[in-house]
Amino acid sequence: MNDNLHQLRCFGCGARISGSEVKPDFRCVDCGDLFEVEYPGWAQRKSLDRPNAGALKWLWRERRCSSEALDHSGVWRFRELLPILDSFGNAVSLREGNTPLYALPRSAKALGMDQLFAKHQGMNPTGSFKDTGMTAALSVARERGFQWVACASTGNTSAAMAAYAARAGLRSLVLIPEGKIAWGKLSQAMDYGAVTCQLKTDFDGCVRVLTEIVREAPIYLLNSVNPYRLEGQKTPAIEIAEALDWNVPDHLIVPGGNLANSSALGKGFQEMRELGLVARIPRITVVQAEGANPLVRSFRESRGAEMQPVEAHTRATAIRIGNPASWRKAARVVQSTDGWVLEATEAEIAVAKAELGAEGLGCEPASAVTLAGLKKLRAAGTVGDSETVVLVLTGHTLKDADYTIDFHRGTLLRAEESAGYEREIAALRREARNVDATPGAVLAAMKEAAS
Ligand SMILES: *Cc1c(COP(=O)(O)O)cnc(C)c1O
Repeated sequence: MNDNLHQLRCFGCGARISGSEVKPDFRCVDCGDLFEVEYPGWAQRKSLDRPNAGALKWLWRERRCSSEALDHSGVWRFRELLPILDSFGNAVSLREGNTPLYALPRSAKALGMDQLFAKHQGMNPTGSFKDTGMTAALSVARERGFQWVACASTGNTSAAMAAYAARAGLRSLVLIPEGKIAWGKLSQAMDYGAVTCQLKTDFDGCVRVLTEIVREAPIYLLNSVNPYRLEGQKTPAIEIAEALDWNVPDHLIVPGGNLANSSALGKGFQEMRELGLVARIPRITVVQAEGANPLVRSFRESRGAEMQPVEAHTRATAIRIGNPASWRKAARVVQSTDGWVLEATEAEIAVAKAELGAEGLGCEPASAVTLAGLKKLRAAGTVGDSETVVLVLTGHTLKDADYTIDFHRGTLLRAEESAGYEREIAALRREARNVDATPGAVLAAMKEAAS
């Protein structure tokens, strides 16, 4: 059986090629732009390849009770919408996806809203949404017979890649810039057996070296220029629609780094509408850190037509990217859904993260830009009281415990960074206290904290 129904379309010049024709750097030979996966059989209404919306909703629900391993994946449960493999038997899964959609009653109340949710992608097997993309793209690598996979990353991509490679019995290579290493996240890549090389260059330099390597040697590139990653990363859009009984939220708010995730979620909603699974599409808003805001500048200066790379600075390491590869795709998603592009300062990110923590939901600082962005949309009156909003929390709080501890100890932000936010920060900080080892002293500490 051939489960493969896809082709690749260049996002820049529109050239179409088969999946096996693409160059190892995933760039178009004519214009250098990125590719996007498309399914030609979906376009004609009478085509036998076009999925039937009613049947799919029923089938996907049935699979929740299935005993087949592939059906337990929150990515491959929706495999009719990602027919990218010759055989789904080649899928490499760690039971990713099926992440919770949590209500946020406290934040909703503070913002005067009724319908606020968080889609927590940090609840994936390696702790970030990268797993949903990695299960898709690494399965393609395995099916095409690669022995080695590689990425340039200091964070979550390498953790996800190394885990899925280990499950598939493939070797993995991680290139990191020397001296700028997030050891907390890299510990996962090491544990899952990746070959990790520190290069005397920055992140962009690592990407350049890796691009040359994959042109020479049979190594499969798993950075988010690989369009199959986006096919996995679009599936949370399906989960959100399913959880809301096939109504879509009015707004979806997503952090922006390399800008693949916002692009993928937009693709997911657009395909669902084309296939008649949902009637409309949410407005998709991308939020960047103020110190790593090339898309914000692009919209300010040219409405998303041009983008100049910036030097990126933010403690939210997962979005510390100055030259995002997928910016054109993300710009198109924001424009076509009537969304916004916003930025959040370091203090706004830290406060939002602590507020989510106070609701019992830990996330990475990069994820908290979504709540910081929503506050701005509410203040500007662009999100209504009764509109439904979903924040995409991209990573787990334990990915960057140093950040959280620094916040609560009061060492995270410099005085000029926290200016104007001192009271909010003071109200959210919870320092560990040194207390005598007696019941009386502990009870006194509780009393003091309650007052
Ligand atoms: C990768 C990542 C992002 C950024 O996603 P892009 O697709 O690069 O925009 C945001 N948050 C976390 C936790 C991530 O791992």
